[in-house]
Order: sequence, then structure tokens, then C-alpha cells
Amino acid sequence: MYTRIEAVRSVLQAGEAALILSGPGRRYLTGYPSSEGAVLLTAKRACLYVDFRYIEKARATVQHVEVIQTERLSAQIGSVLQEEGITHLLVETEEMSLAQLFRYRKALEGISIDAEDDRLDRILEKLRAQKTPQELTSIRAAQALTDETFTYILDRLTPGRTERDVMLDMEYHMRRAGSEGVAFDLIVVSGKNSSLPHGVPGARALARGDFVTMDFGAVIDGYCSDMTRTVAIGTADEEQRRVYATVLQAQEAAFSHLRAGVPGCEVDRAAREVIDGAGYAGCFGHALGHSVGLAIHESPTCSPRSEAPLPAGTVMTVEPGIYLPDRFGVRIEDMAVVTDAGYENLTHSEKRLLLV
Ligand code: ZN
Ligand code: ZN
Repeated sequence: MYTRIEAVRSVLQAGEAALILSGPGRRYLTGYPSSEGAVLLTAKRACLYVDFRYIEKARATVQHVEVIQTERLSAQIGSVLQEEGITHLLVETEEMSLAQLFRYRKALEGISIDAEDDRLDRILEKLRAQKTPQELTSIRAAQALTDETFTYILDRLTPGRTERDVMLDMEYHMRRAGSEGVAFDLIVVSGKNSSLPHGVPGARALARGDFVTMDFGAVIDGYCSDMTRTVAIGTADEEQRRVYATVLQAQEAAFSHLRAGVPGCEVDRAAREVIDGAGYAGCFGHALGHSVGLAIHESPTCSPRSEAPLPAGTVMTVEPGIYLPDRFGVRIEDMAVVTDAGYENLTHSEKRLLLV
């Protein structure tokens, strides 16, 4: 945590301090999860403010940061800034609400907050993009649990079960096996519903000949996993098989370009060319991938607009899909660590088309 704090401090100029209000931002810098709180960094001090609900645990576990109980937060922050002669406060512009901005501007007299100054966003984004070995251990554990949940549910995708029932079964299994929660609301969509990339599991019952797409992830030590598999119930027709094979081929093409230093758009393009070339142009309407960490969607991304080179150590999803409205859809999503030599796939579940 100390090196993270030092790295954020390195963007501060004389007379500046940083205020981190977002949950992932606070956790990243202190190691401590709480639903509310603030981290204040000045050249001299690093303070975590949490209220009574969290103070005992925070005092017992947080290192390298002063733990202070919140009474009147803006007044407490104001007095530290005043003592140190701070005149400008950096905030996470992508995370702070307008109400918070107005409140802090009003409460902190003589302190400017520039809503367009995104130096704090950029440094946190850059640091969080490159996972440490310890972070990777947590992400690996989360993905191992996700793989295990896929094996568990494969035997239980019986015709007649509803999407919602399958989703709840998967969630219960993951949490019982040690997941702290779900990385996001699990997606289980079947038959015609599988053409909805982010459909909500409902009352539809699985039927023979359906594709079922399951997009799910666990959380370990605050770190998320993310994976998607599409399987067929009992049987798949020729077009279903063709679409599935195309999506798998698109994913393989993307992986063959995935390497540190390559712009995300190039990886995205490799997958998109396979899908477009197979006659499904326009049926893959989302980005190829996103980074994963304390939040399920982090930077960098692999989209047609991702021009920055991918850093080594980032954990990237590779999730091409083809969605045929009112008919069916397929998505296959793995999560991999980007390395200088290429990548290491953290997802180990079967990718051949499974008939269950
Ligand atoms: Zn996903
Ligand atoms: Zn994803």
C-alpha cells in the first residue's frame, strides 16, 4: 500500500492534495473495504476517514495510513488542508458526484477543485491496470471458483428449469464455496433470450435445442472474475454450430494478437474481422474486452477506439459474441493476464460446444 500511496503522491505539486472518495480507490490505497469513507493524501500525511461502523476493524488492520473516525468529514479535511497550506484539491472526476463537488467547494474555503483536472483518475487507472502478484493470486482464486461453478451447473441445466432458477443456483453455489459476493448480476439467458447480450434471467424455461449463455463471476479479497460460456441443451442445429465455431475462431484470433505493447483496438479488430468475414457483420455490437480488478469493468479496454498500448500485467477479458435478434446468441469470454510474451489465460473451462 505504501508504494501505491507514494505513486499517487508523485502527481501532486506544491500546495496540492488528493481526495479519494470511491470505494475501489479507497480500498486500493488502504486495503480496507468500507461502504463509505475518504482517503486524503498530502505531501506529509495519508489519512483514511471511516465512521463508527468501520473504525475498530480499520484501526486493527490498516497500515501506513492514519485511521481517523469521521465526525464532520469536510471540516476535518479542511483543517488538514489549512495546516499544510494546501490551495488545490485533486479529486476523482469520474467518480465524484455533482452534489459532492458542490458540497466540498462550499465547505472548503480557499481551496480550488478543478472538475476537469483528471490527474488523480489517470494515475489510479494506470496503477490499477498493472496487477501485482498478490492481486493476481486473488483474481486467479476468483476465476478458479468461477470455473468450478461452471462444472457444477453443467449437470443441472435440465429442460424445464427457468433461467432465474439456474442463476440463483449458480450464485448460491459460488457464495457457499467462498465467493464474497457476485462480481455483477449473473446473466443466464436461453433460447431467443440469448440474443440479448445483457439479458436479465427470467421465467423462461430451458428447452431442448436452446443455446444457454451464462456470464458470471466471483469475488475474492475484493477482486472480481468474469467468464461467459454458451452451451446447447441436448442438440444444436447447423447454424447454431456455425455461429458457435465463428465466435470461438474470433476469440482465438484475438488471443493470437494479445500481447503487452499492442493497442487494444488491434486485438478487437482481429476478432471482428473473423465475425464480419463469416457474414455476421453488425452482430457483434460491443467491445471485445475490458480489464478486471477491484471493479468488474476497468481500464484499459479492447474496443475499436482503444488506441493505447496494453500494459504488461493487466487482466483483460476476451469476449467476442454473435447475436441474432429473436433467434439466438453466442458469447465466449475468458480472462487473461497480458504479458510481454503474450498472455496467460486464467480461464480453464471447456470451450468446445457442449451439448448438455
Ligand atoms: Zn462477463
Ligand atoms: Zn466481461
